[in-house]
Amino acid sequence: FKSLQSYLREAAEKHPEKVALHFMGKEMTYQEVYQEALRFAYQLQRLGVEKGDRVAIMLPNTPQSVICYYGALFAGAVVVQTNPLYVEREIEHQMKDSGAKVIVCLDLLFPRVEKVRNRTNLEHVIVTGIKDYLPFPKNVIYPFIQKKEHGVVIKVKDDDYTHSFKTLLATGKEEIEEPPIDPKEDLALLQYTGGTTGPAKGVMLTHFNLVTNTRQCIHWSYKMKRGEERILGVLPFFHVYGMTIVMNFAIMHIAKMIILPKFQPKEVLKTIEKHRITLFPGAPTMYVGLINEPSISKYDLSSIEVCLSGSAPLPLEVQQKFEELSGGKLVEGYGLTETSPVAIATPIWGKRKEGSIGIPWPDTDAAILSPETEEEAKPGEIGELMVKGPQVMKGYWNLPEETNATFHDGWLLTGDMGYMDEDGYFYIVDRKKDMIIAGGFNIYPREIEEVLYEHEAIQEAAVIGVPDPYRGETVKAFVVLKEEKEVDEKELEDYCRKHLAAYKVPRIFEFRDELPKSMVGKILRRVLVEEEENKLK
Ligand code: ATP
Repeated sequence: FKSLQSYLREAAEKHPEKVALHFMGKEMTYQEVYQEALRFAYQLQRLGVEKGDRVAIMLPNTPQSVICYYGALFAGAVVVQTNPLYVEREIEHQMKDSGAKVIVCLDLLFPRVEKVRNRTNLEHVIVTGIKDYLPFPKNVIYPFIQKKEHGVVIKVKDDDYTHSFKTLLATGKEEIEEPPIDPKEDLALLQYTGGTTGPAKGVMLTHFNLVTNTRQCIHWSYKMKRGEERILGVLPFFHVYGMTIVMNFAIMHIAKMIILPKFQPKEVLKTIEKHRITLFPGAPTMYVGLINEPSISKYDLSSIEVCLSGSAPLPLEVQQKFEELSGGKLVEGYGLTETSPVAIATPIWGKRKEGSIGIPWPDTDAAILSPETEEEAKPGEIGELMVKGPQVMKGYWNLPEETNATFHDGWLLTGDMGYMDEDGYFYIVDRKKDMIIAGGFNIYPREIEEVLYEHEAIQEAAVIGVPDPYRGETVKAFVVLKEEKEVDEKELEDYCRKHLAAYKVPRIFEFRDELPKSMVGKILRRVLVEEEENKLK
């Protein structure tokens, strides 16, 4: 096993002229990406970065996000991925918790970083402009910028603390002293958990974890030809899913990656057609967005071989419809930040089962912990899903107690409830923490959401438990209707009654124009729960 960055070197040595990435009309070869990463590494070392120091990267998907990530690894640093949507409080928490010495950020995000700098260990800020590579339209960047930041002109002076990325690259050298890496021991990444269910924790992932998860992906997609794939990079690289399955996979597979900083259905369809995309990793809400794009049938999507949906459950309806429209295979993967992220996935060319997330990835074990016996459950019994494998994290950064509590006899407890069938296929019922207990009954929101998704007027749905004086909790559903469709609360209730036991039928429906989502498009039930709690205050 080698370090993660050695794969970029290998790709550049073997295929220097091959296009590694395409971004808004500009292409960069493997040689160019490698050289720029080395120059960046040189500058980090000049600024005092030593092996094991943390370097934060706060960028939307751009060539810089690849160069800075690999550059930081060449310098021996541990990358801390920082979500560009973070507000000051979150940036401060992450910088303090990780102890990052350097942060790289987009110029438009600089004022936010500036506000917290004095309360952190940051010694240097490296600022990159949206024009450093190409003048790309501001609207693709605006989602990452708060309203009050729109239109603000950013002037960054080059001083001992603030540095221009462009100048650093122009003056950097390609001869660096690369610290030796012990892949199993040394961290490549501190990846903060999505925070869907609580405050973000730093997940320690080693070079070995990340290299293995990418290798497992290569084995799983064994029919895809190394060097010939064209991968769509629309999942954010600052999230573990896009980082491993798009960015690192593309580099280890010596593929061409087409980078999009923002998910816009038409833009995605155009890109698939224009670049003859073969692999498109995405999230369920992306596929929902695409099948509901009225112009989808105008595009030629026939190049698509495989789409992988992960990060949240993929409704069956959506999967079938997308496969019908694209002609490619849309399979499901399951994982979490703690597993780099993929642990279980549907076989692409093998047997698939309705509603199942599939079977463990190569070299991975999965089992269900029986709540009754505290041992491995029998097929069909619902319990907590646990996994074991080379992609499982080293632990949580500075949180030994949380780390211990997450492991059971060497298994990682995932916090997801599920079961395994007789053939060893796994099924997720829901998150343990999201289970609703109403009148003594256990209710899994996902089951209700699936029923709602099958309703012809519903585009998106989220179900949560809200306090109820008699039943403890009661079921509330938030729904987004498809364009030009109408349905009222009574009709929805009647519809649910036909498909669900009475105790599971939502007592309250709320119609919304949109639902709160994370950067990978995961619907955030937690935000809805908080809104409900605030109403009661
Ligand atoms: P936090 O851990 O802070 O609550 P998060 O759960 O969003 O945040 P991630 O590690 O990004 O952090 O997400 C992992 C979770 O996503 C899994 O535990 C699971 O609940 C859910 N998930 C991922 N893939 C699937 C899938 N295919 N089907 C159902 N759920 C999935």
